[in-house]
Amino acid sequence: MKFTKKQIERYSRQIILKKIGTIGQKKLTKSSVLIIGAGGLGSPTSIYLTALGIGKIGIVDNDTIETSNLSRQIIFNTGDVKKKKSKTAINNLKKLNPNIKLVSFLQRLNKKNINKIAKKFDVIVDGSDNFLTRFLINDYCVRYKKILISGAIDKFDGQVYTFNFLKKNSPCLRCFMPNIPVDADTNCESEGVIGTIAGIVGSIQANEVVKEILSIGDSLCGYILIIDALKLTFRKVKLNKLKDCYCYEKN
Ligand SMILES: [Zn+2]
Repeated sequence: MKFTKKQIERYSRQIILKKIGTIGQKKLTKSSVLIIGAGGLGSPTSIYLTALGIGKIGIVDNDTIETSNLSRQIIFNTGDVKKKKSKTAINNLKKLNPNIKLVSFLQRLNKKNINKIAKKFDVIVDGSDNFLTRFLINDYCVRYKKILISGAIDKFDGQVYTFNFLKKNSPCLRCFMPNIPVDADTNCESEGVIGTIAGIVGSIQANEVVKEILSIGDSLCGYILIIDALKLTFRKVKLNKLKDCYCYEKN
């Protein structure tokens, strides 16, 4: 695979980075990332991953854009209200980088369709807004040994989790939270959320995708990143694999 002159120019600021170079950029261009949820987290994640040249990006979302989404879902414009999220996101991303493959899945992820949608992607980014979907994605990624970069936001707080099931000792979401919490139905809609925390967490998720694909830097796998945007603290808390967890015999 050879880059065109335009591609070299587009990615030049990354290619000159010693940790990326032409080889790293080619790796990114050959990679595929599935983003679940074109919302607050999916917006910055998909914008950065498109801009920095991931070869194939899929977006799963069946929702319609509402005016109340616009404070944090920065991939959409006022004129996009009432349109379908995944299709609109793809159309907007195409303008940013026409060289990459963009696919939209106008579906709600469930047990029946997850394998068909996700099997052809190397990395899964979870930007979903409910625990049922989070656990579904976690269990799928454990089973099929996918890299999972998960993010969550609430009010002024955020968390990022990197699970790399290609590695032997990766914990999973259930090691942290064995079962769906009792107050599982609270989300941004009911609790409120500041737009910028979506930008912070989503950008870190995109950065984690790059790090895992290129195996550079210190992996967040084995830790949870806890962000408090009001105190402006970033804490990395150790997360060990649980011996009796579902993931234990699988990786
Ligand atoms: Zn586990």
